[in-house]
Amino acid sequence: MVTSASVTSNAYSSASTAVSAATTATAPVNQDLPNIKILATGGTIAGSSTSNTDVTGYTAGALGIDTLINAVPEMKEVANVSGEQIANVGSPDVDNAVLLKLGKRINELLASDDVDGVVVTHGTDTLEETAYFLDLVVKSNKPVVIVGAMRPATAISADGSFNLYNAVKIASTPEATGKGVMIELNDRIGAARYITKTNTTGTDTFKSTEQGYLGVVSGGKVYFYNEPTRKHTADSVFNITDLTELPQVDILYEYQNNGSYLYDAAVAAGAKGIVVAGSGNGSLSKLSKAGAIKAVKAGVAVVRSTRTGSGVVTHSDEDDQNGMISSDSLNPQKARILLMLALTQTKDAKQIQTFFDEY
Ligand code: ASP
Repeated sequence: MVTSASVTSNAYSSASTAVSAATTATAPVNQDLPNIKILATGGTIAGSSTSNTDVTGYTAGALGIDTLINAVPEMKEVANVSGEQIANVGSPDVDNAVLLKLGKRINELLASDDVDGVVVTHGTDTLEETAYFLDLVVKSNKPVVIVGAMRPATAISADGSFNLYNAVKIASTPEATGKGVMIELNDRIGAARYITKTNTTGTDTFKSTEQGYLGVVSGGKVYFYNEPTRKHTADSVFNITDLTELPQVDILYEYQNNGSYLYDAAVAAGAKGIVVAGSGNGSLSKLSKAGAIKAVKAGVAVVRSTRTGSGVVTHSDEDDQNGMISSDSLNPQKARILLMLALTQTKDAKQIQTFFDEY
């Protein structure tokens, strides 16, 4: 693993030497500023490489939370920031255990009068899944902002420091209250329910093409223009307080010449739910549909989503006849998150459908 100390050209390590002893534990508290807790989970924003032109072969999750905080001393003019390390992994390795740990910790923190908002640093690859999970399980109207970066801290023109600064700024803004979990990258404020990663390496990868952004950060100011319309955070029925695990939900991808056997494999492996990334408006081939219906008969909840990248999968009479669920405008990876939580409450397809209609 490359550590901050071993990197010669590192925005984070050079800033951390400039801010002497500015550890998260000893920073003085300014009573006039909000208290923002930063929870770190890893990703490129904590990534490091030996080359400052390397933006693909670096080690994600190499730098700790103190290094991230000390690199952006400007945050202390906006808020009293302190940090905690929840995990330090690339986001493909964020699993259900990390989700539960993070969600529970945020609920503990936001229940305290001493915390006004939370920022989560996270890898961008699965950031939208964690964001939507938190949108459904955080029991507070206080701001929660998830932030990542597309370039590691060691890169020329790394984007992480400014994204982190903006995230703290958003979390410190009174208008951010009650907006659900937000994602900040590239100056845009996206709703967890709507935004998705659209590009493998570009810094403008997070897009909210159909429903739009909640707002922007521009000229050092936070501007809000929209509100999420679906239920979230304090209005959500989902409660993880006593959960130690989440039900297994797998995603299958629709393609020409496919068969039924992947459904059988998922059911045999213990799936309690299956999301299908259907073609077009959630279409399934005859064989795929047969596999899905067989899974439903075995007691597994099956949700039709779409591989198109946008649009609503409309609910049909055939869904009701087959005991299947349609995903509304949730992409497959977010439909999986909602289905896992729905299955903690019920196995009834009609009731699960109402969750997909409301959240
Ligand atoms: N592979 C990284 C991750 O998701 C990518 C990133 O953070 O941008 O952890």
